[in-house]
Amino acid sequence: MIKEFDFTPYFHSPEILAAKVLEVYFDNEKPSYPIDPFKMLVFFGVIYQFRDFKDIEGIYLVPQDSDDISIVGINLKRPIPRQRFTAAHELCHHIKDRTLNSICSFGNQSDPIEKFADKFASALLMPKYELKRIVSKYEADGYVKFDDIIFISDYFGVSFESCVFTIAYSLNKISGDTESRKLRSRMRKFQPNLKRQAMGLAIYDFNLIRNIIDSYTYFFENESPLVWYNFKRDFIYNENKMEGINIDQEDIADILTDLRIHKQDSEFCKSDYKDIIEVVGHASIYEYLIEVEQQDVSAYTMMDFHRMLYQFAPHPEEAGKTRIVNNLVLGSKFESSDWHDIPAQIVEVDLLIRELFSRKEDLSVSDYVNEVVKIHHKMTVIHPFPDGNGRISRAMLNCLFKLKKLPPVYIKLNDKEAYYDALKKSDLEGNYSGLQEVFYKELFRSIIQLNSKFVI
Ligand SMILES: [Zn+2]
Repeated sequence: MIKEFDFTPYFHSPEILAAKVLEVYFDNEKPSYPIDPFKMLVFFGVIYQFRDFKDIEGIYLVPQDSDDISIVGINLKRPIPRQRFTAAHELCHHIKDRTLNSICSFGNQSDPIEKFADKFASALLMPKYELKRIVSKYEADGYVKFDDIIFISDYFGVSFESCVFTIAYSLNKISGDTESRKLRSRMRKFQPNLKRQAMGLAIYDFNLIRNIIDSYTYFFENESPLVWYNFKRDFIYNENKMEGINIDQEDIADILTDLRIHKQDSEFCKSDYKDIIEVVGHASIYEYLIEVEQQDVSAYTMMDFHRMLYQFAPHPEEAGKTRIVNNLVLGSKFESSDWHDIPAQIVEVDLLIRELFSRKEDLSVSDYVNEVVKIHHKMTVIHPFPDGNGRISRAMLNCLFKLKKLPPVYIKLNDKEAYYDALKKSDLEGNYSGLQEVFYKELFRSIIQLNSKFVI
C-alpha cells in the first residue's frame, strides 16, 4: 500500500503528515474514533508483535530485502493507551524513516527523529480539528475541567496525561498554572484512575483491547515444539488447578513426558489417584483440541470431552452421560438447570453452534469471541454432567476458538476470581462484557506465549 502513495512532500510537519496518513487510510471518509493504530500498521504493510522489552517502548525493523516485511515490536507491559501511542509512533518510522532501524526508548525527547514521531503519534490519534470539536462540547467559560478530560481521553483512546498536555498547550483550554511540572503535579493530585473507578469506568476502554485482538497476526503453526510443550504444561496445570486438583507443575511435566513416550501404556493411565487420572484424561482433550476440524464439532462434542476426561477412571462407562439429579450445592455462586431440561438445552446450544458456523468467516475475531463466550456461559449454567463441567465447558470454548484459527486459552490461577465474578455477572445481569474481556485478555496472552520466538 505504502508504495502506491508518496508521503515525502509532507515530511516537513508531523501534524500535516499525520493528517495525510489518516486521509489515505480512511480513503477521504470521515475517520472513526478511537483511531486504531494497530490496524493502520497492518494496512501499511507492517507486522506488529508485542514483546517483553525492558526499557524501550518499541522498535521498528526495516525490511532486509524486497521480499521481506517491516516489523514493529511494542512493549507488552505498558498500559494500552501507551501501546497505542507507540504503534502510531512506529508507524511514523515506517512511513518516514524507512531506511533506519529504530529503537525507541522511554521519553527520548533529545533526538529530533523521535520527537517528530511522538508529535506524529499525538496528531494521528488526536487530530487537532477533532480535539477542538470534542473539547467545545465540554467547555465552560473558555476552559475544560479534568473530570471531563477523562471522557475526552476515552474518546480518543489516549492517556489522561497526554490528553491534558495537548489541551493545555495546543488549545490553551486548561485554567490555572499550566507550567509543565505544575501541571503534572495537579494531575497526580487529581488521581485520574481513582476518579475513573468512582465513576464506574474501567481503567481503560474495553474497546481498545478489542481492537488489538482484531488486528493481531497470529501464526498457529510457527512455533517450536518446545514452546507448544511448555504451553501445554501450563494449560493443563492451570485448568486442573482451577478445579482444585492438587498437582504441581513438575508432576504435570512428568505425566506429559511419560504419556508422550508410552502413550496408553503409561503407568499414569493406571494410577489409583483420581487427580492423576483426570490430568491424564485432560491431556487427551488438549491433543484433540489442537487437531479438531469443523465437521467433527457439535454440542454433542461435550459428551466426547467428558468421556476423554474420565477414560481412565474406575467406571469409564459412566462418562459422557448427563446428570440425573439436581445440584444443590449450598453457597454455590451459580444456579444450574433442572436436570430434566438438560437434553433440550443441549439442543439449544447445538443450534447456537450451527448458527455461529454459518457466520464464522464474516465475523471479526472479537465478534466471534463474543458469541463463543455466550455459548460457554450457557454451558456453565446447564452444568450437564455430575462432574468436570468447568473443564468441559472451557474445552468447548477452546474447540470453537480453534475453528477460527485462534489458540487455546486457559484461566490463570490468579485470574480465577475475576473469571467467576464475570460468569456471575453474566448470570445475574445478562451482561457479558466482563466475561468477554476476561477471554480477550487470555487470548492475547496465549498468542504472545505461543508466538514468543516468531520474527523478533
Ligand atoms: Zn522511535
